[in-house]
Amino acid sequence: MKKIILLLAITLALGACNSKSKDNGKLNIVTTTTMLTDLVKNIGGDSINVNGLMGSGVDPHLYKASEGDVTKLVDADIIFFNGLHLEGKLVEVFEKMGSKTKTPIALADAIDKSTLIGSEYFASNYDPHVWFNISYFKQFAIKVAAVLSEKDAKNADYYNANATAFLSKLDTLENTVKSKIETLPADKRILVTAHDAFNYFGKSYGFEVVGLQGISTATEAGVKDVQNLANFIIENKVNAIFIESSVPKRTIEALQEAVKSKGHDVQIGGTLYSDALGSAGTIEGTYIGMFEYNVNTIVNALK
Ligand code: ZN
Repeated sequence: MKKIILLLAITLALGACNSKSKDNGKLNIVTTTTMLTDLVKNIGGDSINVNGLMGSGVDPHLYKASEGDVTKLVDADIIFFNGLHLEGKLVEVFEKMGSKTKTPIALADAIDKSTLIGSEYFASNYDPHVWFNISYFKQFAIKVAAVLSEKDAKNADYYNANATAFLSKLDTLENTVKSKIETLPADKRILVTAHDAFNYFGKSYGFEVVGLQGISTATEAGVKDVQNLANFIIENKVNAIFIESSVPKRTIEALQEAVKSKGHDVQIGGTLYSDALGSAGTIEGTYIGMFEYNVNTIVNALK
């Protein structure tokens, strides 16, 4: 029933709205995840207003639009989202929006699908955690610059210059990350986390990645999953496992207990930012800061 009311609210609001920017002629942009909010701010700078729906620590798999979000979406000139069913519960809202004045833009559409990791857990049939491949995030940046430039041609040079600067920072990030990971022996590259957010990271940097909850947090881990993973940790002499900031830590603590009950020890190596960045205003509150923080945390704990 609540969903029906929400969809009705979108329909009514769209009928009443003429979708013009309301603030000094700046484009009003709505983004979903914190990674996209940071990206769009980097490209749009002072020439746009950005409204991110999800905050730090928010799980995009479970996130539902509030009525306040609907107002933001209706007032937006452009909506950017990840796509590939990452924002599983927003898809219906976006489909409704798309039928009216504007079509929300799934940034993952910029990526060649044949290079993605498949997944039966998502309606998209792909693993949506694509931002953990830096080269995919670069494609997001190029797409955002193109969309902003098209919609606001007088600032196109500005957006393109910002994109060029951001892409060069991402090049530097790639180099930093690679040299840090090279200090970790290949047989130590086993990453055990709360859910399978790091498959693209693993593929890029040679980590075996095991998530306790599978690829979406929508399904909870069972007792058997915990026991199997505890055995895996013992067999592979994994010395650290990781909490994720957007997933409750109890499942990883249960895993640590299960390893202990079998007479072994595994430490909790720290908290990784998987599906959301750290708090706004901190280093981990940016995509680049988050990536470096994660890599440092992983490498230092697994060494
Ligand atoms: Zn996830």
